[in-house]
Amino acid sequence: MTKQHRITLLPGDGIGPEIIAVAVEVLDAIASKHDLKFTFTEALIGGAAIDETGEPLPEETLTACRHSDAVLLAAIGGYKWDNLPRQQRPETGLLAMRAGLGLFANLRPATVLPQLIDASSLKPEVVEGVDIMVVRELTGGIYFGQPKGIFETETGEQRGVNTMAYSVSEIDRIAKVGFETAQKRSGKLCSVDKANVLDVSQLWRDRLTIMAQDYPDVELSHLYVDNAAMQLVRAPKQFDTIVTGNLFGDILSDAAAMLTGSIGMLPSASLGSAGTPGVYEPVHGSAPDIAGQDKANPLAQVLSAAMMLRYGLNEPDAAREIELAVHQVLDRGYRTGDIMSPGMKAVGCKEMGEVLLKLID
Ligand code: NAD
Repeated sequence: MTKQHRITLLPGDGIGPEIIAVAVEVLDAIASKHDLKFTFTEALIGGAAIDETGEPLPEETLTACRHSDAVLLAAIGGYKWDNLPRQQRPETGLLAMRAGLGLFANLRPATVLPQLIDASSLKPEVVEGVDIMVVRELTGGIYFGQPKGIFETETGEQRGVNTMAYSVSEIDRIAKVGFETAQKRSGKLCSVDKANVLDVSQLWRDRLTIMAQDYPDVELSHLYVDNAAMQLVRAPKQFDTIVTGNLFGDILSDAAAMLTGSIGMLPSASLGSAGTPGVYEPVHGSAPDIAGQDKANPLAQVLSAAMMLRYGLNEPDAAREIELAVHQVLDRGYRTGDIMSPGMKAVGCKEMGEVLLKLID
């Protein structure tokens, strides 16, 4: 029987509409091969929404997202909206969507593809075969803890304050995503904290250790964040899945991403609690410098669609087939400008999509 999935599409700004069009064609091609049916609803976010409605996240968009099984987002932002007041900025729409959908877990893979190994700034023998997933807590920790602000002390000196706090329930729910992600991969989970100094990290470590008893098929290890940063650039192949808090995850996921060296290739997923739709999007922004010129690399968006199939719609076979097609397109030497190297075939966004479709068919 044909399985149906409702997907909200948020093309956003800049190169967004170009790259999401490629992902939709790829999804349609995959659907016909795997007996799936995708129903797409397009909605406004970011600058496009500001131009049309005056606000970066219209209520209609949030409602459409809530009524879907998954959300595929491209990117938001651009020079045109940079000087608007904070509340009307495209980025505010993105944050409001994350809050509105309760997205507390951010999954960022860093996979070094053999075809692009030279794009990394590290030696090929160090990064060859790297395949890491960073699971970052997204709605708690020091970015949100209270009290926060710049206060005046009794002596009249200014003092900046942020509070790193995690409750047991916040730790447990992100730990669960970490363990389940590791189960879908190689079964190795590394929890990163600073338990030698921070009480909040000690609680984090204690909870992870207790929860590990429920996941006998997952091998849990712990690292302090300073050591984790060092190990990521020294010997990244030792990692499979990393789970960590908001601040450490922000930094480590960017460091892990740069092991791959190519921003146009990196997908991500943001997940909420079970039964709510996740948001799948490339790590890069709206690239206004190349928008409308058919120069964008659509592969991060296409790989985001594959993550959506695997983590949001439970269609791992369809996800694998998309990932395979991406590998094949690179094997055959097709490259957009951002990943171009001598001897390869230069293509634009549209042609990259056409080659992918041929390979899938
Ligand atoms: P960016 O990621 O948009 O671009 C950085 C550089 O990478 C640019 O030179 C761009 O041309 C290139 N690039 C990015 N994606 C590419 C792709 N798919 N193919 C080829 N080249 C690509 O970051 P930025 O320039 O700092 O930001 C531009 C706008 O995007 C800003 O308004 C920013 O706020 C927004 N932004 C949005 C998101 C998001 O939607 N999640 C994330 C980051 C930045």
